[in-house]
Amino acid sequence: MTYGIIGFIMERGLRISHYVERTKVLGPFVRSALWVQGCCFSCEGCMAREMHAGEGRVVSAAALASSLLFIEGVEGVTVSGGEPFLQGEALSALLLEIKSRRDYGVIVYTGFVYEDLAERARGDDAIRSLLTLTDLLIDGPYVLELDDGYPYRGSSNQRFIPLSDRYAEIFDEYYNSCRGRKIEINFSRGGTTLVGVPSKSGLDSWRRVRNTRGYLRHG
Ligand code: SF4
Repeated sequence: MTYGIIGFIMERGLRISHYVERTKVLGPFVRSALWVQGCCFSCEGCMAREMHAGEGRVVSAAALASSLLFIEGVEGVTVSGGEPFLQGEALSALLLEIKSRRDYGVIVYTGFVYEDLAERARGDDAIRSLLTLTDLLIDGPYVLELDDGYPYRGSSNQRFIPLSDRYAEIFDEYYNSCRGRKIEINFSRGGTTLVGVPSKSGLDSWRRVRNTRGYLRHG
């Protein structure tokens, strides 16, 4: 993308569900997490069904970049949803803006498999940009029957695919040593938010919280 195009896209909207400033359960180090709104998949057992439709809120990439850019103590961001590659253009503009001003690691969860994205990237600038800006991709749809409780991904078909060497030194320690799934439940005036890939018991705990506290979001 040229700079002029990026500037134009920065003003355009990115449809998001929500973000949290800091989490320790969606990748190495402390990181922000962003959930985009809208998904083209219908995975059975998806825990983020309220992020399927085109609702959420629209924020300019520029405004969101300003918010994420100045969060202290984070190594980068994990992007989930929803399906990030449906908004590759605006998401790329957002991440490019932050990466141009700060050392920033990007982890993306997608329902697409990497080979499909790589093929489509040949003729699609938005997909190519987002792949280029991604340091680690967790790919593939959630398959309920393949949910084996392994941390940081929902089912065994999903793969951790490094697209840069940013996490090479800590990759084995972090992703290949199974320590069980972890979640965080955050309470705020805006609602109750579940962060992380939950185990079945974690999901049950969260549902109990939801039923007693009311509205929640998760991802
Ligand atoms: S890709 Fe993710 S958000 Fe979309 S339906 Fe599957 S599990 Fe849910």
